[in-house]
Amino acid sequence: MPPILETHTVSKVYRNGGQSTRAVDDVSIQVAPGEFVALVGPSGSGKTTLLAILAGLLAPSGGVVSIDGQALSRLGEGKRARFRREKIGFTFQANNLVPYLTVLENVTLMLRLNGTYDRVGQQRARDLLTRLGLGDRLDYLPRQISGGQQQRVAIARALIHLPSVVLADEPTASLDTERAFQVVETFATLIHEQKRAGVMVTHDLRMVKYVDRVIQMLDGRIERILDSHADISCLADPADCRPVPLDVLDPGSTPRACPSPD
Ligand code: ADP
Repeated sequence: MPPILETHTVSKVYRNGGQSTRAVDDVSIQVAPGEFVALVGPSGSGKTTLLAILAGLLAPSGGVVSIDGQALSRLGEGKRARFRREKIGFTFQANNLVPYLTVLENVTLMLRLNGTYDRVGQQRARDLLTRLGLGDRLDYLPRQISGGQQQRVAIARALIHLPSVVLADEPTASLDTERAFQVVETFATLIHEQKRAGVMVTHDLRMVKYVDRVIQMLDGRIERILDSHADISCLADPADCRPVPLDVLDPGSTPRACPSPD
C-alpha cells in the first residue's frame, strides 16, 4: 500500500544571529495507512521540529513532505492551510481544549472549522467519545473532567474529521502511568482500525509498546529504526528481554538481545 505520509531528505536549519543549528538533517520516512510510529531520542535531537514539519506548521529548509501524494510545498499558503486542516489531526502536550466549550463541542469544533459540521458528524463525535469512555461526559466542561479524560477528548478532536495523518506531541506528558498507557493504547487502536498514519513524539519509552515502528533520532538524524515486535518490546520494557536462563530455553532458541535505549 502506498504511504500516506512521506518525507524525502527533509532538513531544517535554524539561524539565530551568526549561529545556525541543523535541527533536522536529511530525514526520509514513510508511514503507511494503519501504521503507528514513535519518534524518540534525547532532548534536542530534532523530534519536535520534525513533527512540526510533518504537520506543515514549519517549512523545511530542504526536502519534501507529502501527504496522500501531495507535496505540501507545492501548495500556496491558503490551500496549504485548508489541506492541513482537512488531512491532519494533531494532539499537543497540553491538550488545548477550549475551556468554555463542552466536551462534545470541543470535538465538533474541528468540523465547524472545516465547514463539514452536520448531523452525521455530530453522531460520529458522540460515538467516538463514547468509544473513548466519555459517553456520559459529553456536556461537561474540560475543567469538570480529569486530565486523562481531557487528553482523550483531545484524541477524539484529532480524529473526528477523518484526517489521513494523526500527529501527537508527548500526549502522555501530563498523565499518570495507568492513564498514559490507556490513552496511547486507545490512540493506537483507532489508528490501526481507521487506517490513519500516526506519528507520536514521546520521551517515555514505555509507551512505544503500542507502536509498529520506532524511529530513534540523534542530532537531527535518524539513528536507528526498530520495527520488529521483539525489539520494540525490549525498548519499552527492558525486563522483557533479560537473557533467559539456558535451562528454560527451547532447544535451538536464543535469548533476545535488548537494543540499548541510547
Ligand atoms: P527535541 O524535540 O528532540 O527536543 P527540537 O526539535 O526541539 O528537539 O530541537 C532540535 C534542535 O534545534 C536543538 O538543538 C534546539 O536547541 C534547536 N532549536 C529548536 N527550535 C529552535 C528555534 N526556534 N531556534 C533555534 N534553534 C532551535
